[in-house]
Amino acid sequence: MLIDTHIHLDDSRYDNDFDNLLNRAKANNVIKFIIPGADPKTLDKAVALAEKYDEIYFAVGIHPYDMDAFDELDFTRYITHPKCIAVGECGLDYYRLEGSDEEKKSEKLRQKKIFRAQIAIAKTYKKPLIVHIRDASSDSKELLLEEDASKVGGVLHCYNADEQLLSLSKQGFYFGIGGVITFKNARKLINVLPKIPLENLLIETDGPYLTPHPHRGERNEPAYTILVADKISEILGIEREDIEALTTRNATKLFKI
Ligand SMILES: [Zn+2]
Ligand SMILES: [Zn+2]
Repeated sequence: MLIDTHIHLDDSRYDNDFDNLLNRAKANNVIKFIIPGADPKTLDKAVALAEKYDEIYFAVGIHPYDMDAFDELDFTRYITHPKCIAVGECGLDYYRLEGSDEEKKSEKLRQKKIFRAQIAIAKTYKKPLIVHIRDASSDSKELLLEEDASKVGGVLHCYNADEQLLSLSKQGFYFGIGGVITFKNARKLINVLPKIPLENLLIETDGPYLTPHPHRGERNEPAYTILVADKISEILGIEREDIEALTTRNATKLFKI
């Protein structure tokens, strides 16, 4: 059995076939789903889904691309909900930084400030973090350590699984592996994967984005969690059933679901 630990089920691209989508996921061993908070505009939809379906959980947070909404979001209203199991996705993303060096610098500072604020919220409410890291590994690591984020731990969901992040496994952090592992150009991630302790491994799709091979270019969906599990099984030489069992155990432990 599998848990899709990062799936944007509140995305409108899932509206038309939602129940079929869940049925396809279940037919492919996916039993639970976590909707990370990203854009507050769809957060109420995530809450409604978590209330309607036992197997759906959500997190509250502001993605670095949606920082403008940070001040308006009433975290306490969501974080005390019984199905709210984490804070995030929050973090640092330097991939799309634009403008002059000065502008980039101030944008980085702003991202860090909002990331720190969300770590503080997670610590106050004792919820794990869902951390988004893209092209910002060293700053993210430094900040997590500075802010004592190990008190709550969490998952690092990252595009460029950087070796330097591996030591965070000793600080209560897990590594969310998604469809990127199936890409032909995923050599870096494939090389890092065996170095991640098995007890720190999680599986996610990040749908509707980052669709695994052989469906690249199509909408990603939770049923494809099994394709990620298959690929991890192949790389590590461990039976898929064992990958399913251990990643589900890890997710259950981290998110208390
Ligand atoms: Zn993300
Ligand atoms: Zn995401």
